[in-house]
Amino acid sequence: MPINVLFAAAEADWPTYREPLTRAFAEAGLDCALARDLPPDQVDYIVYAPSSAVQDFSPFTRLRAVLSLWAGVERIVGNDTLRVPLARMVDHGLTQGMTEWVVGHVLRHHLGMDSHITGQDGTWRKSVPPLARDRSVAMLGLGALGQAAARALAGLGFDVTGWSRTAKSLDGLKTDHGAEGLARVLRRAEIVVLLLPDTPQTRNILDADTLSLLPRGAIVINPGRGTLIDDDALLAALDRGQIGHATLDVFRTEPLPAEHPYWSHPRVTVTPHIAAETRPDSAARVIAENIRRGEAGEPLLHLVDRTRGY
Ligand code: NDP
Repeated sequence: MPINVLFAAAEADWPTYREPLTRAFAEAGLDCALARDLPPDQVDYIVYAPSSAVQDFSPFTRLRAVLSLWAGVERIVGNDTLRVPLARMVDHGLTQGMTEWVVGHVLRHHLGMDSHITGQDGTWRKSVPPLARDRSVAMLGLGALGQAAARALAGLGFDVTGWSRTAKSLDGLKTDHGAEGLARVLRRAEIVVLLLPDTPQTRNILDADTLSLLPRGAIVINPGRGTLIDDDALLAALDRGQIGHATLDVFRTEPLPAEHPYWSHPRVTVTPHIAAETRPDSAARVIAENIRRGEAGEPLLHLVDRTRGY
């Protein structure tokens, strides 16, 4: 009997993932029947993205696990009808993409590139940026993505401090944790990068109070989730110069509505949720490995802790 795998994602994703998944299943020695449509009571695994029409998991009576194509699981983690393990996506391609996006945007601000790209006016204005070692960066979130981006920045010499919920000791990185740690980290961060999940505890983590802890003129870079920032507080902090610039990839409403003040604010850069994409080839291998593990009775990789919310 084949293992029945339901592909529950946007229709547009099907042509992108069908072949990589089929190939990865074959490479893993799995006899999988992959389909977009299957009777719920015959489905063994669901490959899932939030764009899926599946909202009620109760008819999936023999489901073994849901395997998310996305790293962020805030749109499924609280679903009471889901009673089987949920694995999120940790994919080499996704991590690499995020690292490149974060390093690129940190370097833009660190080097003051804008003044040369948009301010070229025939005047020879010399301003030499400090070296990376003299630039303090806070990485909020030290998971798969935050750690990789923090390490890349530290590798360039930046003075990086990572912050997480639980205490960590990581080679070559300064770390802090918890509510008190956040204040310590923000007080000295010239650039703050948010790579936290959306949970009740992280919502509005950058609000009027925490933004005011940052050194004046600090840069905010958010490729995490839109809910991490109180938008009104950020706009007010930008307007009074407390925040020098905000580079934002994620928003409470996506696509960001055309009338949203972020679009026209002179010191806000909007990127359309492109910081990192799951890459089909590498992600398909992660999904296949998890199905192999599920069938072998081994613990799944990248399991979401439903009570923690990520
Ligand atoms: P992980 O689950 O691996 O890591 C999450 C990190 O956040 C952990 O270090 C965790 O701490 C920390 N954290 C969670 N809650 C708190 C809290 N209350 N206080 C302090 N720290 C906390 O996630 P990933 O690194 O894989 O992904 C991070 C987020 O990036 C995703 O949830 C998603 O929202 C976003 N993302 C954005 C993309 C884009 O294109 N813009 C693409 C992919 C992901 P601890 O280590 O102690 O558990």
